[in-house]
Amino acid sequence: MKAKKIIVIGGVASGPAAVAEARRTDSEADITIVEMGPDISYSACEMPLYVSGEIANSERLVRYAVAKFKEQFSSTVFTHHEVERIDVQKRVVMVRDLTTQHERALSYDKLILATGSGAVVPEALQSSSRDVHILRSLQDARSIVDTLDPRTIHHAVIVGSGFVGLDVVESLLHRGIRVTMLASEGRVLKGSLDADMSALVVDHLEQKGVSVRNERATSLDVAPDGSIRAVLTDIGEKIGCGFVLIAAGTRPLTELGIQAGLKTGESGAYEVDSQLRTSVPGIWACGDCIEKKDAVTGKSIRAPLALNAFRSGRVAGRNAARSGKGRPAQLGPIVMATAISASGLEVAHTGWSVEEAQSAGLAAVGETITHRSASSLANHHPLCVRLVADPSWGKLLGAQIIGLQGAAQRINIITALLRTGATVDDLYNVDFVYSPRLAPAHDAMMIAARMMQKRLIGKR
Ligand SMILES: Cc1cc2nc3c(=O)[nH]c(=O)nc-3n(C[C@H](O)[C@H](O)[C@H](O)COP(=O)(O)OP(=O)(O)OC[C@H]3O[C@@H](n4cnc5c(N)ncnc54)[C@H](O)[C@@H]3O)c2cc1C
Repeated sequence: MKAKKIIVIGGVASGPAAVAEARRTDSEADITIVEMGPDISYSACEMPLYVSGEIANSERLVRYAVAKFKEQFSSTVFTHHEVERIDVQKRVVMVRDLTTQHERALSYDKLILATGSGAVVPEALQSSSRDVHILRSLQDARSIVDTLDPRTIHHAVIVGSGFVGLDVVESLLHRGIRVTMLASEGRVLKGSLDADMSALVVDHLEQKGVSVRNERATSLDVAPDGSIRAVLTDIGEKIGCGFVLIAAGTRPLTELGIQAGLKTGESGAYEVDSQLRTSVPGIWACGDCIEKKDAVTGKSIRAPLALNAFRSGRVAGRNAARSGKGRPAQLGPIVMATAISASGLEVAHTGWSVEEAQSAGLAAVGETITHRSASSLANHHPLCVRLVADPSWGKLLGAQIIGLQGAAQRINIITALLRTGATVDDLYNVDFVYSPRLAPAHDAMMIAARMMQKRLIGKR
């Protein structure tokens, strides 16, 4: 029997995971992965460690170099090749070699789209200056590191206050570079944190010397030699700097599929079923370019996170390769949960903030407490916990935890509960550990649950 041809488009996280699982599922399949950049199979999440100088060599972020990947998964790898078109009738993709500009047609039986997200750069801030950067790919990270000389760059401006912006603030501080962050509404992590929780993070950043300004970048002042001179803002400021990072958000890269007739949802990402089949037969999608089902609300959401990319890649890879054999793999509902170090402060969130829940039409109340990461007699730090719940029956909707120690790992407990539809009573009843050096007698989350229970007395 002829080997089935599987083509995977996109080579960072979900694409390589799809190849690996397809290979495990079908040892005979003819598998090809196409990536337009120079690298495959690397850790995008660790790029800020390279930008900071904590990791000296970008190759350390690469899990499988091309040759090793080819050998390990018996697959064909095209880097520097862009898929420009999908012909769903003929089951062919048109691929351009970005070095020679030659175009070739590759036929497929099954196609997997793992094209991820791209950075959003407002038109007024698009620039070919060597000092103006985005951070999406390993090439972007290398180009940042190549230009980031603390002897000549003393001040950097970060446009945007989301995860990538905060990650790079920490990297630049590590290199001894002063940072100004332009944050719309003066807030950070707007989709994850309520305004008052964001204010705690902003205070911390300012204590660390970061200037967080409620301003929007409107244009860039670039010198004739291509170096950046300043960022101009909507209140008429001209902020002199030697480095700019545009971290104003991301969008799913779906043009290829849309042109081939694939359906996208409200977020702009591909609509897929639980087996990650797109609306076109023979085509699966995974990673940042798909919508997932939110476990709390059942709504379709974009959740561009690494773990979702790996898991969904495995589902798509298995299902594309299985040819009706065995049970199809499924991607269950997910909880949007994140954590980041904001200049040493752990900032973690899961599920829905009060603001986000209310703007999505959910009844939501928040309860906030501050407690300790460990016993008062041991080394400890304050932990601020905000719980979000449905007031009519106490169902947990989300949480935010901020502190110098213990926030990121604690959030996982609430994430696990959110998947089960748990209430504040379930959180209160969790058997939290107590060990003076590690955790206080009453955990901060238990206290938050207790306070929420009190608040809901008579309401449910
Ligand atoms: C700086 C940074 C830090 C991050 N930190 C975290 C973190 O701490 N925790 C976390 O959970 N997540 C983090 N993420 C997000 C995580 O990296 C992404 O969710 C993950 O990389 C998504 O993987 P993906 O394979 O779906 O897409 P991507 O990583 O976006 O890869 C898609 C690939 O497809 C290629 N491609 C697109 N179109 C074509 C085409 N037509 N032809 C050929 N190739 C194409 C692109 O070149 C790209 O290389 C971070 C991301 C960044 C940028």
